[in-house]
Amino acid sequence: MTRTVYLNGDYMPETEATVSIFDRGFVMGDAVYEVTCVLDGRLTEFDGHMARLARSLKELEIPCDISRDEWLEIHRKLIELNGLQEGGIYLQISRGDVGDRDFHYPPAGTPPTVVLYTQSRPGLSTDPKADEGIKVISVPDLRWHRRDIKTVQLLYASMAKMAAEKEGKDDAWFVEDGFVTEGSSNNCYIVKNGKIITRQLSNDILHGITRSSVLKMAQEAQMEIEERPFTIAEAQAADEAFFTSASAFVMPIVEVDGVAVGSGKPGSVAKRLREIYISESLKSAI
Ligand code: PLP
Repeated sequence: MTRTVYLNGDYMPETEATVSIFDRGFVMGDAVYEVTCVLDGRLTEFDGHMARLARSLKELEIPCDISRDEWLEIHRKLIELNGLQEGGIYLQISRGDVGDRDFHYPPAGTPPTVVLYTQSRPGLSTDPKADEGIKVISVPDLRWHRRDIKTVQLLYASMAKMAAEKEGKDDAWFVEDGFVTEGSSNNCYIVKNGKIITRQLSNDILHGITRSSVLKMAQEAQMEIEERPFTIAEAQAADEAFFTSASAFVMPIVEVDGVAVGSGKPGSVAKRLREIYISESLKSAI
């Protein structure tokens, strides 16, 4: 099916949506993005994603004056035009097109390039992977040091995922100075003696919208949380492990670098948090 996408104020068939070869997103990776999950035809965590988008834009000084309500209208229109039930909306804003390749930022007034499109993923909330758990490998974290900004510079994350796939595993965890930072596209957790351990927020990791909600829900469910870095050895000796992201919610991890975590099956904390997160997301979706 040809999707209807959004480009710079217009809705059009994906085959007609084109961006300049000089666009800074294309030439320099000078762009930020968000992915908002859609369940039951409605948006989950919309305000969290829009708040992080505003922060990413501010940190990079990319001008964009689209308001929260305008974003909501665009998201909803794309859901409607494409009959999206389950999946996500990808949103990207680049610093725009100055008509040539240039390291300098474009002059004030240059409009950003704004693209949004739907990605249909039927069965997202009932992914059988969540029943089996996934396997991860570790790789050195060779990304830049502003991982708190959600930029489209995803080459290293892509390489890490390919490396995992080559080894017959599902995903990769990044390790820096002996400690896990995060997953290739998710935040990571271990559980030891009932306590959930996850790295604290800093420029070292993306401030996951799912992370924030899941930690709140865990707290409300009287679970103990410790925000600190952990090592691969600790993860291998943990009772369970899991990751969170907008499109996978809470995903149990059953193997780290070839070593089974806990029983080698999804743990009860991850399973419970996944259930709570999906049901609360459905309740609060807009
Ligand atoms: N960390 C990285 C590097 C990511 O790319 C993502 C999501 O894309 C996350 C964490 C999880 O963030 P969120 O829960 O907002 O999807």
